[in-house]
Amino acid sequence: MRNVPFFNYPYLFKSREADFQGIFTDVGRRGAYILQKDLSEFEQNLAKFTGNRYAVGVANGTDAIWLALMAAGIGKGDEVIFPSHTYIATAAAIHFVGATPVPADCRNDHMIDPESVKKLVTKRTKAILPTQLNGRCCDMDALMGIAREYNLMIIEDAAQGLGAKFGGKGIGTFDKGATISFYPAKNLGSFGDAGGFVTSDKDMYEQVLLLRDHGRNDDGLFVRWGFNSRLDNLQAAILNYKLSYYEEEIEKRRNIASFYQEHLGDLEELLLPPSPESDERYFDVYQNYEIEAERRDELKVFLKENGIGSLIQWNGQPVHSLTSLGFTGNGLPYTEAMFRKCLMIPMNTSLQTEDLDYVCTAIRRFYGK
Ligand SMILES: *Cc1c(COP(=O)(O)O)cnc(C)c1O
Repeated sequence: MRNVPFFNYPYLFKSREADFQGIFTDVGRRGAYILQKDLSEFEQNLAKFTGNRYAVGVANGTDAIWLALMAAGIGKGDEVIFPSHTYIATAAAIHFVGATPVPADCRNDHMIDPESVKKLVTKRTKAILPTQLNGRCCDMDALMGIAREYNLMIIEDAAQGLGAKFGGKGIGTFDKGATISFYPAKNLGSFGDAGGFVTSDKDMYEQVLLLRDHGRNDDGLFVRWGFNSRLDNLQAAILNYKLSYYEEEIEKRRNIASFYQEHLGDLEELLLPPSPESDERYFDVYQNYEIEAERRDELKVFLKENGIGSLIQWNGQPVHSLTSLGFTGNGLPYTEAMFRKCLMIPMNTSLQTEDLDYVCTAIRRFYGK
């Protein structure tokens, strides 16, 4: 039996161990730990890579959302519409600026459904916070149309979307900017917690820059209330190096998605994510490969018995199901039906063709094909 873990954490380091050791040594010998040149270089490269004017490194992806909302002036009495199919962090960031998180439904590519968003707009709605989930952008044309019609801001939770594009435009370029997570298992993973914010909006950039470092400006003066949410310089040095070959990694992920499409696309029991070439408006980077599967729970057990790791995103709980946090638990039909069927199968750059063959063969066997 083969062993195909869902994610291979040691591989993150082992894949280029000597280079990483070199970076640790270099940064350590320079004593360059906080707000040093490795961070500013990474920020410049991150802005350039995403097609934005500015980037700010912050402590993690959750802080990035929280600081971006604060920078945009969202707070008490405001409502922010976000997809229920997202991490709790998206809603928590809205909650912690004092605004009300309003969950919306998703559609069959698992991205936020613009029709659902439209129905949820009230006089208090200030912003839409779409999640660029699983490495795919939402239908940004539709969302920008709604934002224009109702005079709303858009801030993207692109924790899973670094490198994703819609209509040739990268994350962060649509309105107020996008937040990114560099959590180890994310597409561009660091060796710990790390996050970023990208934008072409000068005011958003300047405010997030202040907020992440105690409200302190370039002259060391405290000009607004702020926090400590700086991205460690050592993590920035690692991320800057990893960004230099990130496009190759995206290509690997897109090839894996094509492989799955080719080998599983005929199974009626499955709904696969859109394949890389299926719609020219989208450029997906496949942070995850989230399928919908008949007899999902049995399939998950079967895969486990065959040494294959799989995962149900958010532990099977869309945000609106969290009644302990004050959500109603119903009213979003696609999300509710989808969460009985969704499953993520292995999608990461450590996977070899033999692994993919093995996974596909096992799934086909489960459905008697
Ligand atoms: C990972 C993730 C976050 C949080 O990022 P952290 O770096 O872990 O704080 C937020 N939103 C989404 C959609 C995520 O996947």
